[in-house]
Amino acid sequence: MSSAGSIRAASALHRRRALLAVPLLTWALRAKAADAASRTLAVVSILPQKQMVERVGGDAVRVEVLVRPGQSPHTYEPTPQQIAAIGRAAVYFSIGADFEPALVPKLRRAHPKLRVVDTRQGIALQPMAAHDHHHHGHGQHKHAKGAPDPHIWTSPPLVKQQAATIRDALAELRPEARAQFEASYARYAEELDALDAEVRQMLSGKKERRFMVYHPAWGYFASTYGLEQVPIEIEGKEPGPKTLARIVARARAEGVRVIFVQKQFSRTAAEALARDIGGEVVELDPLAEDFISNTRLVAQALARALR
Ligand SMILES: [Zn+2]
Repeated sequence: MSSAGSIRAASALHRRRALLAVPLLTWALRAKAADAASRTLAVVSILPQKQMVERVGGDAVRVEVLVRPGQSPHTYEPTPQQIAAIGRAAVYFSIGADFEPALVPKLRRAHPKLRVVDTRQGIALQPMAAHDHHHHGHGQHKHAKGAPDPHIWTSPPLVKQQAATIRDALAELRPEARAQFEASYARYAEELDALDAEVRQMLSGKKERRFMVYHPAWGYFASTYGLEQVPIEIEGKEPGPKTLARIVARARAEGVRVIFVQKQFSRTAAEALARDIGGEVVELDPLAEDFISNTRLVAQALARALR
């Protein structure tokens, strides 16, 4: 073997190493791009949106939620610090929460570069279920008067639509990651379709179609599956015997066998109520972060109790 040949062999080996090193380098760069610092910061109004943006955006995004767990989006007001902090984000996904009409113009003034994406696009909004809350100065569950029902995250097909809007917005912000967003969206959409089919299957053949809710957040879920939510007003913390009696009377009058309550119900109160209506009383948080398991919980309760 001549020395020239051995040099050629060496440089060929070197080239092979260099070729091998390219994917490794790309991989390392990708891993680096996934670091928190280079992730696209997205701000959302409420927790259920976090799942949508994370499922579509994967490790290319970081999501911050304005309304913290335990706060009500109906009474929430962003602090000046939060408004300033939104300026660090690339995109804000609005959903129609009560505080947004006041917030969005402030954001546009303070952060002209921030992309504001309304995730209601492509969704047929429906009126808010009629209920008593508007007549009370009670505040906690008041909805903006005359505004459409803002709870568009409680129906799988509508969540799919919102996820598509999120996918398109992220792809515009990060064109190099478009394929990743499209693939993640496709997986999420498939899961939402499966959930939709599962809920339909669980409710098929049920003659009873009504359920009672503490807070009428399930209007879009109800209309998607041909159900009807009956809102009940429960004020205060632990409902007393009078309130429970009123709920039972209403449930019997309306032929309701499923009641979704919120945290302030004790297990004892819930069990008594379930016994009295001969059905299911389930604690439910309409703002749960994991929309998919929350929806399954709702459908399972309905499937067990409705006839
Ligand atoms: Zn609400």
